Formats: sequence, structure tokens, C-alpha cells
Amino acid sequence: MIVADLKPLDEIGKSVSQFRKVSIVACGGCVSVCLSGGARSADALARELSHPRHYEFRGPVFHTISIQRQCERDFIEAYLNIPPDTEAILSMACGAGVQTMAESFGTLPVIPALNTTFLGSLDEPGLWREKCQGCGDCVLAYTGGICPVTRCAKHLLNGPCGGSSQGKCEISEDIDCAWQLIVDRLKALGRLDEYERLFPIKDWSSDRGGGPRSSGVSRAKD
Ligand code: SF4
Ligand code: SF4
Repeated sequence: MIVADLKPLDEIGKSVSQFRKVSIVACGGCVSVCLSGGARSADALARELSHPRHYEFRGPVFHTISIQRQCERDFIEAYLNIPPDTEAILSMACGAGVQTMAESFGTLPVIPALNTTFLGSLDEPGLWREKCQGCGDCVLAYTGGICPVTRCAKHLLNGPCGGSSQGKCEISEDIDCAWQLIVDRLKALGRLDEYERLFPIKDWSSDRGGGPRSSGVSRAKD
């Protein structure tokens, strides 16, 4: 899922200080699961941002509202009712949601409240770790279900570098070497022969080096 963190309050306060009425829009998707952008987070943010210490002059009045997803324009236009006197929207969605909101609301400013960080999973209570970079050509079938593109600092596809030591990555003793994890997992699966397989040079054309990607079939008429 998409993981995001709340931006520093000072930064958000500066972004909204020029407006008199701001609608904080929570998102019920991924960011609510990682406890950064859901309805409760929006209420807490409204309370915090209402404190005068964030503003040189009088700060905005906040109104909170929630929608299940901010990354679908049809959904936003069907279900999201913003009060007519709103001067700006503070979106608690990921970057995709913020941009979709901006496309939906024309000239109304849409400001991000979150920093979108990565695609990850919940490994321990309260701890999310990055697991996928959306490379568009998944190799997990050959690596025991552990992604070397994301979890190896050098994106190595054919075994570890010389910095792998006692199962840890050379960049930090707090980070497991992805290739140690892969070898351990292949052993456990009885598929260590996969480790002998040489990956051909990866075709990165499906990664984001070629610019923004799309998926599915456009229904837009010519
Ligand atoms: S190989 Fe690519 S698609 Fe598969 S998990 Fe890794 S980054 Fe994601
Ligand atoms: S130590 Fe392991 S995870 Fe770190 S860069 Fe080398 S191969 Fe990749």
C-alpha cells in the first residue's frame, strides 16, 4: 500500500495561512490504514492547525470532510461536497490523490498535508517498510518473493555485492542484506537452484525512467 507521513505542522501552517476558510479532506484509502490521512487524523490536524501559534495574523477556520478515495476523479465528483465558501482544500491523500483533487476542483487551490513516501507493508506494529518500487516487470517469482530492486540499495539482480556482511547491508547494520534474505528464503523453499539463474540485463523501459506510465484502456472519446 501507499505509505505517507504528515508534513511538519509549520510547513502546513504556512501553506494555509493566507486563506480564511480551509476544508481538510481526509482519505479513507491507504493513508488511513497507515494512520496519516484518515478521518481521525484530519480532525486532529484541524485541532492542531486552529492554534494561533501557527499564524502571524488570524489563521483560517477549518472544516473537515472525508471521502473514501481521492485518486478517482469520478468518485470525487460524485461524492465530495466542499462547502461553497471554502478558499482552499488541504488534502490528506497521497500525491496521486492530491493531483486528482486538483484536477477535479479547477481553480480552487489544493494543498498537500502529507509527504508520500513509498509502497510498503506493515512489518511490525506501527512500522511500515518499503517493499516495491513499481518497476513494471516483477522478478519476485525468481527471488523467493523478496524484491532486490527495492530492498537492495544497489538494485542488484544477480547476488550480493562485496559489502554484504553477516546478513546486513553495507549501508547500515540495521538493514538486512536483500540478497541474504533471498538466499535464506530460496533455501527454505527448497529452490536454491534459482540462485544459479543469471538474470539477463533488466529491461527498465517499464520503470519510470520513460516518464509517467499508464495502465488500462482509456474510455475517453476522440
Ligand atoms: S520486482 Fe518490481 S514490481 Fe516486483 S516487487 Fe520489485 S519493484 Fe515491485
Ligand atoms: S549489502 Fe546486500 S542489500 Fe546491501 S547493497 Fe550489497 S547486495 Fe544490496
